[in-house]
Amino acid sequence: MKYHLVCISCSKEYESDYTSQICGACSGILDVRYDGIPRIAASNPDFVDYERVLPEGRYPKYIVGNTRLVQSPTRKNVVLKMEIENPTHSFKDRGSIIEIGKAEEYGFDEVVCASTGNMAYSIAYYAKLFGMKARVFLSNDANKDKVYYIKSLGDADVQRINGDFNKAQEAAIKYSKKKGAFLCGDYCYRKEGQKIIAYEIMLEMRNVDMIFVPVGNATLLSGVLRAIVEMKDSGKISKMPKVIGVQSSECDPLVRAFESGKRVRYVSPKTDADAIAVGFPTFGDSAASLLRDLGGIMARVDDARLRSEQKEFFERSGILAELAAVASLSAEKALNKKGKRAACIISGANL
Ligand SMILES: [Zn+2]
Repeated sequence: MKYHLVCISCSKEYESDYTSQICGACSGILDVRYDGIPRIAASNPDFVDYERVLPEGRYPKYIVGNTRLVQSPTRKNVVLKMEIENPTHSFKDRGSIIEIGKAEEYGFDEVVCASTGNMAYSIAYYAKLFGMKARVFLSNDANKDKVYYIKSLGDADVQRINGDFNKAQEAAIKYSKKKGAFLCGDYCYRKEGQKIIAYEIMLEMRNVDMIFVPVGNATLLSGVLRAIVEMKDSGKISKMPKVIGVQSSECDPLVRAFESGKRVRYVSPKTDADAIAVGFPTFGDSAASLLRDLGGIMARVDDARLRSEQKEFFERSGILAELAAVASLSAEKALNKKGKRAACIISGANL
């Protein structure tokens, strides 16, 4: 769909041929604004043309997404959105294909991103697929199994940073400016790609009451909220599902901001759930504000509970999911006492 970009900090607008996801005037992050209400055409979830709700561009079809929604082995009214079925076993692929498609459209031959693991694996994978160079900056807490996966692709230039995700992000931004590489990561195009997860849930499960979302940079959370608003605005749903964003108690900057009503403040990540170990979420303030407006909430689960949830999920389902991925399951058990129809996003399984 036709669109333009707007800076969420200074409101400066850019046409869709602007080749960055960062504002040239204030370095704020940009957001996609469509020229009209995005509207899906089909009602059958197997044949939906998602290009109608994505930024205009050329993206390969049938590679990512369309993951299964399966019954929870332990909870009667709960279904699991199996994002671990994507090619690099996490939801990150949804956004990577949009970002890399844009990088190709704008004529870049190199992409760069910061990551705790999954993002870099996904970006390295699609860069290889599109014949581009990839440089990835990994935080010092990056999961060693994920580093192995990234290196096993053979092409990406892997740089370890002595610091957390936010330090790696600074390095990626600096590199993109210096070398002219397309900056990928938790920015506007990724958010658009990831929102399709919520479209798929709502189209397949028309009566879903609650959606539980693991939260790191809050890009997935923002995408889910955007999809719900678009589905409502286009008349495809009458009732909006309640969204519950979930962080680890050992890294909960967005929960704190949501509870206090203040802006997000940096928290030093102490969690072992590396995929959501983000001390200062990029989309934190905008996600908290929209979540509040739509009647959603933020929740926290401590690492000990994440570990026991991971073990139980493995024993009951045979699926080994990441600690971050089972945050949705753990929060659902704690908060959905009335047994409402809930969907939990199982976000990744790279371990
Ligand atoms: Zn700006």
